[in-house]
Amino acid sequence: MDCLFCKIILGEVPAQVVSETEHTLAFRDINPQAPVHVLVIPKIHVPNFAALAEHPEALAAVAAQAAAVAKAEGVDASGYRVVFNTGSGAGQTVFHVHAHLLGGRGLNWPPG
Ligand code: AMP
Ligand code: ZN
Repeated sequence: MDCLFCKIILGEVPAQVVSETEHTLAFRDINPQAPVHVLVIPKIHVPNFAALAEHPEALAAVAAQAAAVAKAEGVDASGYRVVFNTGSGAGQTVFHVHAHLLGGRGLNWPPG
């Protein structure tokens, strides 16, 4: 399968890894949209949020690591956002599910 994020998990494509657990990997977005912009992915290949919802353990692991990274990066007190772009109409470009963790600046609502 030709999946960029599976290649990052396998170490075939380099990434700035922030932290890793048995079931998840967190790494910095290559095109950051905020001072803190980290992607959190499950190590199993699932294409999107709907598919991740069918794997509750993986979903919980992604959520737990996003919260842990937010704390480690120091954005938990000021506030942060966790986003799953789902489908090309919502801006999804990589079809290995990933949570965007964004923080370190003011975040408008609603998002664009
Ligand atoms: P999305 O558009 O929601 O699918 O998010 C995909 C994200 O992956 C974008 O924010 C990209 O900047 C990011 N991205 C693409 N390639 C890489 C890479 N090699 N390493 C880190 N982040 C990447
Ligand atoms: Zn994948």
